[in-house]
Amino acid sequence: MLPAFAYVRPASLREAIQELGSPDARLHAGGTDLLGCLRDGVFTTKKLVAIGGLKELGGITVAADGTLRIGALATLAEIAGHPAIESRFTALAQGAASAASPQLRNQGTLGGNLCQRPRCWYFRGDFACLRKGGDTCYAVGGENERHAIFGSSVCCMVHPSDTAPALIALDARARIAGPEVTRTVPLESFFVVPATDPTRETVLATGEILTEVLVPSPPAGLRSLYRKARVRRSWDFALAGVALALQVTEGRVDQTRVVLSGVAPVPWRAVEAEKALVGSRVDAETASRAAAASVIGAEPLAQNGYKVDLLRGLVEEAVLALA
Ligand SMILES: Cc1cc2nc3c(=O)[nH]c(=O)nc-3n(C[C@H](O)[C@H](O)[C@H](O)COP(=O)(O)OP(=O)(O)OC[C@H]3O[C@@H](n4cnc5c(N)ncnc54)[C@H](O)[C@@H]3O)c2cc1C
Repeated sequence: MLPAFAYVRPASLREAIQELGSPDARLHAGGTDLLGCLRDGVFTTKKLVAIGGLKELGGITVAADGTLRIGALATLAEIAGHPAIESRFTALAQGAASAASPQLRNQGTLGGNLCQRPRCWYFRGDFACLRKGGDTCYAVGGENERHAIFGSSVCCMVHPSDTAPALIALDARARIAGPEVTRTVPLESFFVVPATDPTRETVLATGEILTEVLVPSPPAGLRSLYRKARVRRSWDFALAGVALALQVTEGRVDQTRVVLSGVAPVPWRAVEAEKALVGSRVDAETASRAAAASVIGAEPLAQNGYKVDLLRGLVEEAVLALA
């Protein structure tokens, strides 16, 4: 049973921001994550602010300078099937297509995918874990086969989104509207590491709404992809994944971003792998070096050491696929 709450449908973004002004109000986009959390008692609310009717938050457009704009209410299905995204921002189309199931992709929005809550079974279960304001991460000494191998000093959940790593690999920015100002942040800085604050996943403050995501036109020669490994071949979160953007000029890597999923509490830049790639020819030797570099600094827990090899294989495959 869902506990009782008020349900409002604001007529404008401004009104939505006002309605969200109290900390016990929550934003409702497609509802595919939010309603499950409410039903399972992960958190409560006094008021849901349903933004589904706000046309200004939808749509996907490509500007004259090639910048891609995706409204926060664009669905994952719209993103996965958009011809310009498939051809020029391929990692993003693949990330969106690999998330959840067809039904969920039809209902789930980009904003919701980026702001969804963690899937850690302790966070979702009856545990007053650190992320819910308690003082312990139960996964550290508990069942941790699905948990983080990087950046898990305080809380070892993994970030669940498949679109976030792809967008960061493509250097996306997030537009945020709030009661005072509208601001734009690199998507990489949108996510909060547990060491900074284990109770929140994003920089959004009370009353703030993610309104759109902007992705710059890819430079000439840049190609990208997203791959993930999962237990089931559909409808499952990443055990490990990689978004790779690679710009090759005259046979050598000019610039690159390697962003990992399923292995850290935030989408994780594999900086050492990027260093191994830049300036190199894209061949089997480089792929193997980048793969080895991608797991530098990994600190597996008792049950998730397999992620190190899995990740290394994914990165090697990804580089070779773009060779
Ligand atoms: C069975 C299942 C399998 C899944 N598998 C995957 C998977 O493999 N990969 C993957 O990436 N995802 C997966 N998901 C997650 C799914 O993609 C998300 O549930 C969906 O994208 C959320 O979008 P929504 O519009 O329904 O968000 P909602 O449920 O409406 O919102 C989710 C959260 O984001 C907040 N929010 C939503 N929009 C905004 C906004 N514009 N600004 C600020 N806050 C906002 C809400 O307040 C809420 O806390 C899965 C979900 C389910 C239920």
